Amino acid sequence: MAAIILDGKKIADDIRSEVAAEVVSMTAAGIRPGLAVILAGQNPASEIYVRGKVKSCEEIGIYSEKLTPPDTVSTEELLDIVLDLNRRDDIDGILVQLPLPPQVDSKQVLMGVDPAKDVDGFHPVNVGLLSTQRPGLVPCTPAGIIEILKRSNIPIAGQEAVVVGRSDIVGKPTAMLLINGNATVTVCHSKTRNLPGVCRRAEILVAAIGRAGMITREFVKPGATVIDVGTNRVTDRGEFDRLFAGDAKREESFRAKGSTLAGDVHPEIYKVAGAITPVPGGVGPLTIAMLMANTVKAARLRRGNRMRELART
Ligand code: NAP
Repeated sequence: MAAIILDGKKIADDIRSEVAAEVVSMTAAGIRPGLAVILAGQNPASEIYVRGKVKSCEEIGIYSEKLTPPDTVSTEELLDIVLDLNRRDDIDGILVQLPLPPQVDSKQVLMGVDPAKDVDGFHPVNVGLLSTQRPGLVPCTPAGIIEILKRSNIPIAGQEAVVVGRSDIVGKPTAMLLINGNATVTVCHSKTRNLPGVCRRAEILVAAIGRAGMITREFVKPGATVIDVGTNRVTDRGEFDRLFAGDAKREESFRAKGSTLAGDVHPEIYKVAGAITPVPGGVGPLTIAMLMANTVKAARLRRGNRMRELART
């Protein structure tokens, strides 16, 4: 049987509508959530991501501000920008777009962001809050993965979950969220022995590796839910044929653009899995939706008391 396709775009649209409604009521109560995005230097991919984030803020009614220090910016100068934003009451979320120019100490800059405004959820304070199940800001892509599972009525509690990838941005926080949801979680990485065998145990398999089509039939238990986080640009003809031979739609766009976006999961898994997130259109759309949700959550956590006071007067 063909897998159920988990439509990330639809789920992201639902979340964005809910967030927009909350922004309306917060703004009516005198508090407009605000997001500052720092885009240092010139990186075409980062510029596209930042444009998407700013546009999404406009659509939802969140105030946004883009700061664009030059390629030559120093760690100290970037820290000053971050510290200024920390002090501003109208800014609830601060996002430092990565990668930063090579001379900048990225960790130092990220550590400078006030944890209450850390809408990426990367600050060690937020990592600690997540691992001790306290309210805080959770990284966007992992939070989006959990939304996909919950809103698709896929049970988490008691399930055997395997996460392939242990990055601070995706793998580890996803594993932590699944543990907090009472799944039994195994985290795999490049040194894991018998990776296919470990993955085959999974009722929920999350692939966050960054290798096009690496997860093949031998990795997947029939009927499992497969979450494909990978976004890999395939430009090589041989690689394209390994993944998409016979897919006329992909073939047409590959010929036109010279590339296509592939997940970490091989398309043959559509015949094995019970449910699967497509690439594109699966996890990707959730990332920006959860950034919007995090900005509003940050405003609520930081300014919520004042909003209640304003509402009473
Ligand atoms: P990353 O920091 O490069 O981490 C990759 C992880 O995969 C590492 O833990 C690595 O293990 C593991 N790995 C690599 N090769 C492996 C192999 N052969 N077998 C087993 N494990 C292996 O990447 P990331 O930032 O987590 O991102 C992962 C993927 O998700 C990328 O394709 C990225 O573009 C995508 N992504 C998508 C979104 C979205 O919005 N859709 C957001 C973020 C990331 P080691 O730790 O041992 O090196």
